[in-house]
Amino acid sequence: MTWVQKTLFSEEPEPSCLLPLDQYDVIAVGYSGGKDSLASLLDLLDRGVPPSKIELHHHDIDGQGEALMDWPCTRAYVKATAEALGIPVVFSWREGGFVREMLRDRTATAPVVYERGGETVTLPTKRETPGTRLKFPQVSADLNVRWCSAYLKIDVMARVLANDPAYQGKKILVVTGERRQESSARARYAESEPHRTNTRSRTVHQWRNVIDWSEEQVWDEIRRWNVRPHPSYSLGWGRTSCLACIFGDADQWASVKSIAPERFQRIAGLERDFRSTIRKGQTVEEIAAKGREFVSDKPSEPRALAMSPDAFTREHFFLKPGEVWTVPAGAYKRCGGPS
Ligand code: SF4
Repeated sequence: MTWVQKTLFSEEPEPSCLLPLDQYDVIAVGYSGGKDSLASLLDLLDRGVPPSKIELHHHDIDGQGEALMDWPCTRAYVKATAEALGIPVVFSWREGGFVREMLRDRTATAPVVYERGGETVTLPTKRETPGTRLKFPQVSADLNVRWCSAYLKIDVMARVLANDPAYQGKKILVVTGERRQESSARARYAESEPHRTNTRSRTVHQWRNVIDWSEEQVWDEIRRWNVRPHPSYSLGWGRTSCLACIFGDADQWASVKSIAPERFQRIAGLERDFRSTIRKGQTVEEIAAKGREFVSDKPSEPRALAMSPDAFTREHFFLKPGEVWTVPAGAYKRCGGPS
């Protein structure tokens, strides 16, 4: 079946603002490297969408600044995905990333930078409203206080779509991998809606194509494609994207402390400096002390892949002949968040 024959209108019973898939000029997949965005990408390929119509959009949380939150391997994993599937990738970030945004002290948010096909473009901050954070994002469904998702992902992608001349006058479908099963807030997300960058001169729709998938369906999709998931899952993380995600539970913080002790100490020190903790009323030290780390009994290979910025290559993306796909240790595990 071709992608022209299998369209959204034939697939989706609920009212939708979406066009048939083949009418979009670009399908921009928000790709963290985590299992849900991977399943969402593979589902598009299953539907027959040609890789040449797809772009991966990955947002570097640490923004080429101090490495604090991202897994060291994530950029390499995203690059490997793009190369293995023959899909271009746009990397984007807020200059200085998580740490610069967190350390804002009567300053404006930093410019957005993106990289496409070897070219780097900087989008200066338009509204120079000075602001002060000096605290971590708070564990909350409210994106005003959980600012990492809004400032380091959602706004970054919106600025790229709104400013890059490649999108002007085009029809764009933004595809993201949120699932209703993940949280009560996500249970209320619409499956499709006009994207915030939709204008009269630029059609931009958003589609959450795996919104009603179970986690079992997600892993089954990845298994069927014989794809090696992000190495963090083999180390026992239930969710990716950040190694030190603010939503981490006690076992996860104990595991961050075990696998990345310098980062853990830096986060604990910042909590003390700010006199403000990530989780209300408890420091990361106190949370980690209540948990049991789950990484030290895991094989050395995923650890080496996870903690290197360049070890994961396109050759690792699909399992090699003779390798058997197994459900990773982190599958079906509650690791905290999102709200
Ligand atoms: S993975 Fe966690 S810490 Fe990282 S941006 Fe998302 S919510 Fe924030």
